[in-house]
Parts: sequence; C-alpha cells; structure tokens
Amino acid sequence: MNDTLFSLTQYALSELKDTYSENEIRSICRLIFMDVLNYTNINIHLKKYESLPESFVNKFYHIIARLKKNEPIQYIIGETEFAGLKIKLNPAVLIPRPETEELVYWIGESVSSPRRILDIGTGSGCIAIALSRLFPSAQVLGIDISEEALKTARDNALTHSVPVAFRQKNILDYKPEKEEKYDLIVSNPPYVRQCEKKMMQKQVLDFEPHQALFVPDESPLLFYQQIAILSPRILLPGGSLFFEINEAFGKEIQEMLCHLNFQQIELKQDIFGKDRFVKCKLSQG
Ligand code: GLN
Repeated sequence: MNDTLFSLTQYALSELKDTYSENEIRSICRLIFMDVLNYTNINIHLKKYESLPESFVNKFYHIIARLKKNEPIQYIIGETEFAGLKIKLNPAVLIPRPETEELVYWIGESVSSPRRILDIGTGSGCIAIALSRLFPSAQVLGIDISEEALKTARDNALTHSVPVAFRQKNILDYKPEKEEKYDLIVSNPPYVRQCEKKMMQKQVLDFEPHQALFVPDESPLLFYQQIAILSPRILLPGGSLFFEINEAFGKEIQEMLCHLNFQQIELKQDIFGKDRFVKCKLSQG
C-alpha cells in the first residue's frame, strides 16, 4: 500500500499515543511535513491522499521512532521558531520556550533604544538575536560557559545577519573589562532545582543540557545573586536588568533586588499564569 500524509498521520497517532496528546501529534506531523517535504500548510491539505516517495516515508518512520524514545522534535528537526525567527538547535543548547519569547516582548515594551546589551547564559543566542532585531542600533553581547552552545549561537547570528558578539565566560567568575558598561542586562539562567527533577518530562530531562537547566537545591538563586551583585559594576546608572525566573522564587528575588537597592522592581507572570519574569533598574546614581 502506498503511504500518504493521511496514512502517515494515522500511523503517528497510534505509535505516539502514550507520549503525546492527539493535538500535539498532529502539530508534530505538520512540522515534519513542512520541514522535510517543504510543504506549506495548504499543500498538506491538498496533497493529503497523494502517495509519497519511499525516501520520505522511511525518514518519517525513523523520526517517529526517535519521538517514541522521547527525543524532542526540535532537536530531531534541528530548529524551532522563536519570536518569529528560525533558531537552529542541537542538544548543546536549551530549546527556547514560549515564555522566553514573552521576556523578549516585555523588554521591547519596557526599554527604548538601549545602546549596549548583555545576555548572560545565551545558549542558542535566541534572546540576544531577537533583541538585536528589535534594537538594530544596539551593540549586543551574548556570553555562555559552553563553547558548544556559542558555536550554535554564532551560527544563528550569521543566519539572521545580526551583529551580535558571543564570548565564552563563566558568570560565576566574571571579571569585567575596564570600560565594560551596558544599559540593559538580561538573563534566563539555570533555575530548576535538583529536587524538581521528579516532576519533569522525559523529553527535557533525558535530552536537554543539564548545565543550562539545574541549580543546586541549597542555592536556587545562585545566578541571580551573582548577576545582581555584579550589575552595579557593569550597568550604567538607570540601566535595566531583566530575568526569567523559577516560578517558586518571585518573592525572594524581588527581596534580594530590593536589598541591593535596585529600583522599580516588577514581577510579571507568563502566559500560564506563573511568576516568571522580573525587571528592575539600577538607581540613577
Ligand atoms: N523553563 C525551563 C524549563 O521549564 C527552564 C529554563 C531555565 O532553567 N532557565 O525546563
């Protein structure tokens, strides 16, 4: 029997029923058809019952087998969409989340024409690149501890022709250059506690880089403290600091920032109604 988009979708629905919901399986199939066959949404409808080349059918079966082992579709396809941009991905970098897009949009609404931007723990470079598109005249620097991640980030910046610089740095041991000053610092650092592992999906736990996800149970605010303490040295007076945070620590992070004399501290929820972002400003001096 010849395989068609319809029969392959039926196959996926039965193979993946224990791993994903029906809606998720349908959108995964659409992604595969668009990515591997280069079909548009309309084509997917029009060619639903046309027989497909064997090479594609074999590829499709292979992808379904990987999905069944919980490998995220974004790593299989090697890309995802973030704030309207295609971002290349591999297991060296976290898969950008929709929440993080919200962070970028919040920055866009809150800040006008920043000149120098620092993205700490840049990963795939998604935040840095999206901000560079949003503020084309800004100088943007992304730093990360992982050289592998930075390769991906540089590749993404090249694809989108944005002049973002990337450097390998460990934020926990950061020595600012003499003249290093920013008017905007943003970070989505690791914030999941080890004790939260048991509630996490296999897709995340077995495939995404743990270095980008986890903090020790006993120091969940490690990165936030480090960045907040460093900020007065590298943020210009009146400069802004934006964080994505663990939903369990909104209050603690606000208190810490208040203690360190940051101003206009604001907590914001994400689309799922969870405390997810904090912004604040360094005093005018
Ligand atoms: N939001 C991610 C998750 O739920 C974690 C991102 C991070 O640690 N910065 O897995």
